[in-house]
Amino acid sequence: MIESCVEINIDKIIENIQNIRKINPKSMYCAVLKANGYGLGAYKIAEYIEDYVDYFAVARVTEALALREANIKKPILILGAVYYKDVQKCIDNNIDIPIIDLDYAKLINENINGKVNAHLLLDTGMGRIGFRDFEEDKIRELNNLENINIISAFTHFSTADEADTHYTEMQHEKFNKMVKDINDSFNLEFVHLGNSAGAIKHHITRDMMRVGIATYGLYPSDLLKEEKDVELKQCFSFRTRVIYLKEVEAGTSISYGRTFISDKPMKIATLSIGYADGYMRSFSNIGEVSINGHLCKVLGRVCMDQMMVDVTGVDVSVDDEVIVYPDIYKEAAKVDTIPYELMTSINLRVPRIYKKSGKIISIDNYLGEINED
Ligand SMILES: *Cc1c(COP(=O)(O)O)cnc(C)c1O
Repeated sequence: MIESCVEINIDKIIENIQNIRKINPKSMYCAVLKANGYGLGAYKIAEYIEDYVDYFAVARVTEALALREANIKKPILILGAVYYKDVQKCIDNNIDIPIIDLDYAKLINENINGKVNAHLLLDTGMGRIGFRDFEEDKIRELNNLENINIISAFTHFSTADEADTHYTEMQHEKFNKMVKDINDSFNLEFVHLGNSAGAIKHHITRDMMRVGIATYGLYPSDLLKEEKDVELKQCFSFRTRVIYLKEVEAGTSISYGRTFISDKPMKIATLSIGYADGYMRSFSNIGEVSINGHLCKVLGRVCMDQMMVDVTGVDVSVDDEVIVYPDIYKEAAKVDTIPYELMTSINLRVPRIYKKSGKIISIDNYLGEINED
């Protein structure tokens, strides 16, 4: 029996891609699959959506190599800094890397056989990695590095999901200026800047949009969810099951530390999920799950593998299914985070079930096979 699972609906992912592409049908679509596809399983999703996208992006070399091992053929860009000794593997597997500063580029240039396809990362205001606008001379020096084949330039927005659009506009202008200044030194085939928010809210698509969260059907922020410029469908549900039911009297303490004590007779369900599955302990006494259409509050502390919820007055039996995040935006806000973190926190102990046209097409059990009934 699969007690907890993440079910991923491939049709919804494809629908999201098609809807987002309508913003600019000429722009290439780069599906961002970092962090194991935002927790949903990168290589499976890549396989199912490869025909619908032009590029994939990941954060680490290992993630890129895993996609190549899974026989993914489309171009792959690594978004984070790549250790210079790993660049040869990128060349051998046709994986693009970002170039984030001059010394780093020189080190790579000296340590590889063959040319690596590289995207110039311009820091227009994210403040993370990349060349800044006063470093254009350094950027031009990259031209002397014969093994670094600069095919593209890109930047990343830091506030594109917010109401105030000034900073995004500033970053956009800075990017355009930097690209214009350096373009005569390079033969840039294409440039890219928009993440989900840049594409959805600002329609900044250019030659390629790099879409992560929206591919999976979530809006990058509550604001964008309200504005709903593009129709997105959440492609996954995180579920678990009731494993135990009991009636308790007033004065019964629940879970570690006795942080919850019933003040009346209650019906309580124990669920087969805990913080080791990625359901954060900070949800203790504040999280809500949905059972048979009813919202049920977490009672007491979330344990490593189990937790208790209030099912007083709810028609429920052992083995009933539980929706873990009935409203993932609302639950994320309760523990001071964003849906991105809740998604990527789902532990590999939880099987990933992939569905297409209403049918299960595959199940990934990272920790071994189980009876699928
Ligand atoms: C994560 C990331 C993205 C995708 O961001 P979303 O908000 O999920 O669309 C795009 N570009 C870079 C550089 C990133 O790090």
